[in-house]
Amino acid sequence: MKAIIIERPNHVAPVDRPEPQPDAGEVLIRVQASGVCGTDIHILRGEYLGDYPVIPGHEFSGVVEQVGAGVTRFAAGDRVAVEPNIACDACYNCLHNRHNFCLNWEAIGVTLPGGMAEVVVAPEKAVFGIGELPFECGAFVEPLSCVLHGVERADVRLADRVAILGAGPIGLLLLQVVRLRGAAHVTVVERQPARTELAEACGADRTLAHLDDLEADRYDVVIDATGAIPVMERAVDFARRGGTVLLFGVPPAGAKMELEGFKVFEKGLTILSSFTSLRNSYQAVALLQSGQVDVRRLISHRLPLADFERGVELIERGLDNVKKVLILPQE
Ligand SMILES: [Zn+2]
Ligand SMILES: [Zn+2]
Repeated sequence: MKAIIIERPNHVAPVDRPEPQPDAGEVLIRVQASGVCGTDIHILRGEYLGDYPVIPGHEFSGVVEQVGAGVTRFAAGDRVAVEPNIACDACYNCLHNRHNFCLNWEAIGVTLPGGMAEVVVAPEKAVFGIGELPFECGAFVEPLSCVLHGVERADVRLADRVAILGAGPIGLLLLQVVRLRGAAHVTVVERQPARTELAEACGADRTLAHLDDLEADRYDVVIDATGAIPVMERAVDFARRGGTVLLFGVPPAGAKMELEGFKVFEKGLTILSSFTSLRNSYQAVALLQSGQVDVRRLISHRLPLADFERGVELIERGLDNVKKVLILPQE
């Protein structure tokens, strides 16, 4: 099978390898669409939790090709998406309903071979049927699951006033989910005009190009969707007293953030982060199937496997009005 492999930080190459076989309890999936995520780029740049060498890609969908012994939920030909975080189900955190903090955590495309390949194996429990959902929408099951977990943590409530900082693919998913939760007003801050237009199409009441134009002390919930430290540091300014700040974007590992302790105290803020998801895949599939979350317009590029690095470059440099880049490994 053809695949993309990150040998070590900043070294990525196409490879041709023997196809994996599904072991007992595993499903072999022919990958049809695989999203390039900021996390893939962090792994490529040595800024995340990846084990090297690794085949990246944790946001993908495809068709079941073969199932291992004992698999009951799937058969060849089923259309599926994968929840990449693999919990052991037996450690203290798993037994305490905190599977995302599994002490033996593994993740497809991070520590295990991922979806930037023609085929991939996944444990049955990590695989979810997507029915007739188009594959390119199925590739959003994972990022949408993470967004659902984050929005549930932030407890966005009916009639809340919300500010979202950043309108990349994740910001636009957050926007749609916050709307579904019943927010009365959502302002999105984003520099790139193509993205602000899309934010308006996805339900933003207002878009602003500059953080300086956002009102201080006003929002019930402020969500950072940039992972950029200077933006994260300012997020606390815009929350109302007693409000909530959700730091959702993934910053580079090792980078320090500075907050004014007294301001956090005086405002009585709830400051949250959100790590991956907690079995939110059924919810994500349901919202995509029902059309309540629209992801098609978030896709800007569809590239063959050999163009993975080109996809990374588009995202890193913000070229060509890039939004979500999908790799189509069968092309
Ligand atoms: Zn991702
Ligand atoms: Zn565990």
